[in-house]
Amino acid sequence: MRETRIVPEFVTSFPAELEPGHLYVSARFSTAAHLCACGCGREVITPLSPAQWVLTFDGTVTIWPSIGNWALPCQSHYVIDRGTIKWARNFTCDEIQLNRESDHRILDAVPASQGRWWGRLLRRLTGH
Ligand SMILES: [Zn+2]
Repeated sequence: MRETRIVPEFVTSFPAELEPGHLYVSARFSTAAHLCACGCGREVITPLSPAQWVLTFDGTVTIWPSIGNWALPCQSHYVIDRGTIKWARNFTCDEIQLNRESDHRILDAVPASQGRWWGRLLRRLTGH
């Protein structure tokens, strides 16, 4: 069954069994996890960073950009907006490919393994 609401759970590490309708947020690992909102029961992991997903908490939880589960059989696509699951249309194969390419461009620009000057520059740019 499709979820319509999701509530945040702030945790240090994720439990072995995730509950549907909960978004587990680990500040320590800068990662969020939830069960796919379509009800297929697959775990969806969203790394949180300015280049990946950005999480906002105001009593409810928002994650941006949308979550596209292209790697899952369900290929579901939704936005978590103030604790509400907003269903988006499924992308076509071409759109999925484009999305993946642009994701890679962003991530390739700042590989985690880069030298120290990159890290310093990034921290200066992002204010972290
Ligand atoms: Zn699913």
